[in-house]
Amino acid sequence: MIFEQVSEMGHEQVVFCYDRETGVRAIIAVHDSTLGKEQPSGVRASLGGTRRRAYRGVDDALEDVLRLSEGMTYKSAAAELELGGAKSVVLLDSKDAEKNPTEREAVVMGKFVHRMGGRYVAAEDMNVTEQYVDWMAEVTDYVIGGKTRARGGDPSPYTARGVVNAIKGGLTYANGAPDVAGVSVAIQGLGSVGEKVARMLAQEGASLVVTDTRKEKVDEVVAATGATAVNPDDILAVECDVLCPCAIGQVINDDTIGGLKCRIVAPGANNVLDKPFEHAAALRQRGIVYCPDFINNAGGVIRLGGLYIGLSEDEITEKIERITPRLIEILKTAESMESTYHAALAYAKERIKAGVARGQAGPSARDRVGESAPAQSIGGL
Ligand code: NAD
Repeated sequence: MIFEQVSEMGHEQVVFCYDRETGVRAIIAVHDSTLGKEQPSGVRASLGGTRRRAYRGVDDALEDVLRLSEGMTYKSAAAELELGGAKSVVLLDSKDAEKNPTEREAVVMGKFVHRMGGRYVAAEDMNVTEQYVDWMAEVTDYVIGGKTRARGGDPSPYTARGVVNAIKGGLTYANGAPDVAGVSVAIQGLGSVGEKVARMLAQEGASLVVTDTRKEKVDEVVAATGATAVNPDDILAVECDVLCPCAIGQVINDDTIGGLKCRIVAPGANNVLDKPFEHAAALRQRGIVYCPDFINNAGGVIRLGGLYIGLSEDEITEKIERITPRLIEILKTAESMESTYHAALAYAKERIKAGVARGQAGPSARDRVGESAPAQSIGGL
């Protein structure tokens, strides 16, 4: 059963980890290392965050890590990074544990990561902070995104910059110019990414409508940006130029898609389309330009992955700026395809294919490229 699932999605390696002393359980999945930069040890690096969750069971955790690691392959490939796609999950016993990470657990997780010998590089994801990454870094160098021991820090400022660049790409495609001044943008979620997107757009003269389930955060952003606040339930149906979901996944689904009143959807959040192919095609039919999430929100992986593989700050900045022209190219290519999501995925797969042609692949990647089997969602970082 597990092998069927793994071979269907084409993963190279899935490792189940258990620590006898502490009982910490984790799964590490390397999806595709074709494009990974060869490390001094001879392995190719694949990057993806570590997610900590109280899963309903091992099956849920496995599904999550397989899906998210596949997503990382396409996110990094499309961002033209020399990195493969991977991910890890720590299976927690309770919801309480999600908000209470311990050094003991992080060190054990760091040991699991270390045993991968550099094939897998860990970073932040859900319930994993810079502190957690630094704890992992006590026992391994194969991590990025910490504050003290590991380099990189919080990726969200870079993610937010990339999302703003994507909005400009969407506007260029729809309006012929990237200008944000006077454009109305509705932002769902004012967390690490959404708040920064709001502040950057406000500085450039956008007119904002915002929401969050945390009222104090809404008040703060309204005071800082002059945004109009709406209830969380109303944000998706706000009449605006750009809808920018920056909270959680699957918010555009069968129930909500009909109510959208925007011209462009440019998410910062991962997996905003519940059924990516179907809903991306439905947005096209409704005349709404969909900017695929994994193209828009690659700024964080560009920053952390870029640092890991030795890019300079200038090269990282340049790659994040490239999100605008890349998106425009994908949106144009998509005109002859079913949706912009199809086009974005094809864009990423094309890069992997080029990696195979350069002789960068292991057998699994060689076999898989050219298949049209869809990734159901793109996750992480
Ligand atoms: P976060 O937890 O800091 O922020 C999420 C915010 O959304 C919180 O303020 C929360 O209160 C709010 N929220 C949750 N449910 C909501 C709802 N139904 N309506 C309105 N607000 C709601 O997370 P983040 O780091 O800002 O990430 C946001 C999204 O972007 C996630 O999907 C994440 O996977 C994705 N992402 C983040 C990064 C990054 O660098 N942090 C990179 C790539 C993708």
